[in-house]
Amino acid sequence: MKRRKFMGYAMAVGAALGIPRLLNPKEVQKAKIDRIDIFPVVYPTEGYFKFFGGPGGSAGRAAVIVKITADDGTVGWGQAVPLPKWSYETLETSVIAIRDYYAPVLIGRNPADFEAAHAEMDKAIAPGFSTGMPISRAGIDIALHDLAARLRGQSFAQMWGKSAGAPITLSWTINVADIGEVGGVVDEGKKRGYRHFNIKVAPDPDFDAALAREVRRLAPEGLLWADANGGYDLETALKAAPRLADAGVDVLESPLRPNRISGYQAIKKQGALPILMDEGVVSPADLEEFIKLGMLDGVAMKPARCGGLASCRRQIEICLDHGLMWLGSGLTDPDISLAASLCLYGAYGLKKPAALNGPQFLATDVLNKPLHIENGFAQVPTGPGLGIEVDEAKVVELMKRSAGDRLLRSCQQFSRFG
Ligand SMILES: [Mg+2]
Repeated sequence: MKRRKFMGYAMAVGAALGIPRLLNPKEVQKAKIDRIDIFPVVYPTEGYFKFFGGPGGSAGRAAVIVKITADDGTVGWGQAVPLPKWSYETLETSVIAIRDYYAPVLIGRNPADFEAAHAEMDKAIAPGFSTGMPISRAGIDIALHDLAARLRGQSFAQMWGKSAGAPITLSWTINVADIGEVGGVVDEGKKRGYRHFNIKVAPDPDFDAALAREVRRLAPEGLLWADANGGYDLETALKAAPRLADAGVDVLESPLRPNRISGYQAIKKQGALPILMDEGVVSPADLEEFIKLGMLDGVAMKPARCGGLASCRRQIEICLDHGLMWLGSGLTDPDISLAASLCLYGAYGLKKPAALNGPQFLATDVLNKPLHIENGFAQVPTGPGLGIEVDEAKVVELMKRSAGDRLLRSCQQFSRFG
């Protein structure tokens, strides 16, 4: 039997038995995307966080779970995590972007050729100032990485030629409307083993300085990271930064909206605190330009914001090349997206506490075995691909359970391509 024919036969048998075999590098290049399924869900949440909630009083943390199946039956999982109070992508628009634009152009393509996949997605939804629909796209990108690594039988770290890395220290999020609530929220974090805290600040610098002082008093040793989510104007930011520094804050993230380029230049020049950007840094090209313009001292990384792992890896490397700080962050990522971030941050040797607050705010998961998170540390998953086993029955159950949610009304249909 000719080799090509034999390979096809072997793959067909493997798929029929439901036990895909590992492929050698040449075979991986020949693998094709056979099917893409998406599952819009809403994870139940616990605790107050200003970014939760949607139209008509809907609650929870929406996500689109993406399942990509290769022609040999191997499956990769990903997850898009739209958060409309954080940026313009919603559950509904993510479903449409993935279902009607990204999935159709990827069927029949090689799942391991990330560059080609992103080029096709660029053609399907053109970039604006930066990558189009990056949060939706990250769901596809993570699933492609999971699939490509599983085809090879490798973890992400192995696929990238790196070691898995040490457990990731987590930071506890403090988002309160009254300084009197700080003690309780800090206590809750400490009870769960957390020692590092990130605070949500802006627009009121008096409140923010008091908040920072109180958290610093209660957690004198930890990293204290203030995130304004673009909520100050320049004048206020220039006043707030030294006051936050005096109150014990270590880094200030996103003091201004990302289009305030001259404002970022001014606040970085002021030098009261290291200035990190988050919102607005989407593609590696954005980051290169913002560095050239002297707008930042570092970046709060999050694969979900960047269009996925390929872009986020490149951005970590750009930061390292320029001697800039990078911190690990997230979008209150549920299990699948969280696993991707942990694999990435572990492989790149993140030592500083990461603002991955999914474990703080989310009450459920869709995994056979939950991620190992204890005492404020998250183990980096080390198995093939994402190192997690997604339980499809749990995914379907969560989707059905979420179906009463208003957000899901336009997205209830289980969607399949290929
Ligand atoms: Mg942020």
